[in-house]
Order: sequence, then structure tokens, then C-alpha cells
Amino acid sequence: MRDIIITLDGYSSCGKSTLARQLASELNYVFIDSGAMYRAITLYFLRLRVNIAHEKAIHKALGGISLAFQYNELTGNCDMYLNDENVEALIRDMLVSEHVSEVSALKEVREFAVAQQQEMGKQKKIVMDGRDIGTTVFPDAELKVFVTADPAVRVERRFKEMYAKNPGITIEDVKANLEMRDYTDSNREYSPLRKAEDALELDNSNLTREEQLAIVLQWAKEKIAQ
Ligand code: C5P
Repeated sequence: MRDIIITLDGYSSCGKSTLARQLASELNYVFIDSGAMYRAITLYFLRLRVNIAHEKAIHKALGGISLAFQYNELTGNCDMYLNDENVEALIRDMLVSEHVSEVSALKEVREFAVAQQQEMGKQKKIVMDGRDIGTTVFPDAELKVFVTADPAVRVERRFKEMYAKNPGITIEDVKANLEMRDYTDSNREYSPLRKAEDALELDNSNLTREEQLAIVLQWAKEKIAQ
């Protein structure tokens, strides 16, 4: 038995966070949603109207950001805090979704977030989901999973999730946002979204939450037992 790091990477709305949360709970590991960190940084940049064309402005803004995850007893999940403010709901809205990929493509932003993510993994026993976790953040992670799903399935899932909070949203809005983020995340210069060579691929288009959890849990148990 050993303590390990588990990384889940993939395109937007593949269900990575749900899977990562359930997996962490089964293993008694800590779940870290790295996307929430990029979303919180984006919210801060939007509020301060940071000019992302200027390196100095980015640097100064990052100096004013403190990120933390805190357990929420009501939901049983960890909420994202930006400078001691609970921003969990705010970071999920469309405005942040529309800007997060351009902000997360910035070198300074990535260095800022990755350093904190690596710190969180020092004691192992974490499940972290994102885009570059198996390639850049934890290239030596014991278990790397690359999650995929049919684009139409992803749009449908995301639409249901967003519609519940914002009935004004259309399926076209959601589709356009996912396509834009997938493209920007995959084509950026620093840490683009890639499947790590040693990652196991999981296509969950036709799997229930229980089925995908059972598969990855089995992979994790095998790694932990090694
Ligand atoms: O996972 P989620 O969809 O919430 O991530 C929001 C955005 O944050 C992604 O579209 C991507 O631009 C960025 N991200 C990233 N690297 C990660 C996690 C998220 O660039 N490790």
C-alpha cells in the first residue's frame, strides 16, 4: 500500500470534476478542482479590469490574489475562496467561462497556479482534475487518466447544468463556449491540453457515473497496491 497522486485531464465538460470528487471520497483523498483556481483568477481580473496585454499589470494583479479551498458543510464539497470571499457560484457563470481560457493561457498565471497546485500534492493522497495536471503539474503522478466524451454529449451535459442556474442560456451558447475553450486550451503556447503519454484513456460517453467511477477506482486500487 502506498499513497499516490491521481490526475484527471480532458476537454471541458467531460465530467472530470464529478468523477474526481467521487474518486477522492471513495479513497479518502483530497479532491482539487484546478479549473476553479483559474476561474477565480479570471473573476479577479475581470473585476479589476486587468489589461492582460501588459505583463506588469498581470504581475501586479496576481500579487493581490490569495486562493484557498474551504470545506462547505452544507454541500459536502470544497468551495473556492478568493481573498477570503466564497466565489464558488460566481466562478461558474458564463462571463467567467467566456474569459477563463484567455486568462489561463498566460504564462504568469500558469506559473502562479501550478506552484500552488504542486504544493497541494506534496503529501500525495490527492485527486486533481484539469488540463495539464498529468503533463505539467504532476508529470510523475502514479495514476493519470485522460477523460473524453463525445462533443454532443458534453454540450448536453453542460447545458443541463447551466440551464438550472440560468434559464436564459441556449444550447448554442454552451456549444460555442465549449468549442472556444477546447480550441484555446489545446492550442495555447504554455501547457496546452494534451493526453500524457502514460495516461489511461476513459471515454465516458456511454457510461453512467457509477460505471466510470468503478473503472477508475479499480485502476487506483491497483496503483495503490503496487
Ligand atoms: O475545469 P474547468 O472547465 O472549470 O476549467 C476552466 C478553464 O480553466 C479551462 O477551460 C481552462 O482554460 C483552464 N484550466 C487550465 N488548466 C487546468 C484547469 C483549467 O488551463 N489545469
